[in-house]
Amino acid sequence: MSDRILAAVMPGPRRPIEIREFDRPDVPHGAALLRTVRSEVCGTDVHLWHGRLSGVPYPIIPGHVSAGILETVHGSLRGIDGAELREGDRAVFFDVHRACGRCRPCVVHRTPTRCTARRVYGITDSAEEGLFGGWSQAVYLEPGVHTARLPDSVTFDQYIGGGCGLLTAVHIIERAGLRAGESILVQGTGAVGLSTIALARVGGASVIFAIGAPADRLVLAKRLGADRVFDLTSTTAGERLDRVRALTHGEGVDVVVEAAGSARAFEEGPFLARDGGRYVVAGHYTDAGPSSVNAHDAINRKHLDIRGCWGSEPRHFLRALTLLERYGSTIPFGAIGGRTYPLEQLDAALADAEAMRITKALVDPWASARG
Ligand SMILES: [Zn+2]
Ligand SMILES: [Zn+2]
Repeated sequence: MSDRILAAVMPGPRRPIEIREFDRPDVPHGAALLRTVRSEVCGTDVHLWHGRLSGVPYPIIPGHVSAGILETVHGSLRGIDGAELREGDRAVFFDVHRACGRCRPCVVHRTPTRCTARRVYGITDSAEEGLFGGWSQAVYLEPGVHTARLPDSVTFDQYIGGGCGLLTAVHIIERAGLRAGESILVQGTGAVGLSTIALARVGGASVIFAIGAPADRLVLAKRLGADRVFDLTSTTAGERLDRVRALTHGEGVDVVVEAAGSARAFEEGPFLARDGGRYVVAGHYTDAGPSSVNAHDAINRKHLDIRGCWGSEPRHFLRALTLLERYGSTIPFGAIGGRTYPLEQLDAALADAEAMRITKALVDPWASARG
């Protein structure tokens, strides 16, 4: 790798992506430089592009989940799985860093995803500070970042196909407390919803429903393990409720997962759960506006258990890796990833992701649009 590193920079909301050159960074003791092989353009990046997330220090290098080959390692680098990492290893890293372990959320409430000091590669790190995002030929892994060797059997495309959606899904299944033999309904068939379906399947769910669109995502939902899918655009909420109840002894499902990011989804979700069921809300990563629910009907009388789910923790990262290692050959995680784009075409990738032409775009920072 030369001393000049190319990266795609998002200068601000709704401004065209710029290709900029960066100096190769110094790598102090405990740090590493990762030569990026794949990164992603996901729904979060579309939100970033529209300025829908607060506290983002533009300009940024997006690409929060990324994978590559360790180019430089200074000192000993131990992965989160306990193994020593060396230069030349295929490696991945947990995008959340600097969670402090000292603030009230970290220590008192044990909710580190709400840590006040927490930062996230590709989202809350400024490009002024360096190579903190995967839309770059190299990513700077500062000391303390959680890293891991990518298992030999997992391809880069499988890892990114799962990507941030898979980490979130691991957390969702944990929050849902899904038990073998329980029924589940997933609202939303984007990357998070699709990964949640896959994990519910291998986690022993009895019946898995999915509500989503467009049609090709519903086909993918079935490939990943959904038993019954509802096209959001051609069924009404009333029809979906009748059908779900008819297939669950008139009760509704044990667990509903909101992975749609729609205020309307939150109005429908509680009624799809059985009385005393659980409702995990994970899709409202940005402000989708108010939902209108009647608390008496939707929550109180139903004895419904509603649980938010924000971000993920290192254990979800490690478990996502072990799931990919075990199930990568049987679950088509790679199919969640769509086309692969070079740095010069990331405006088009964002437009394709937003228009739902692809579930997720893959980024190859070393490919050239100019051939
Ligand atoms: Zn903290
Ligand atoms: Zn993402």
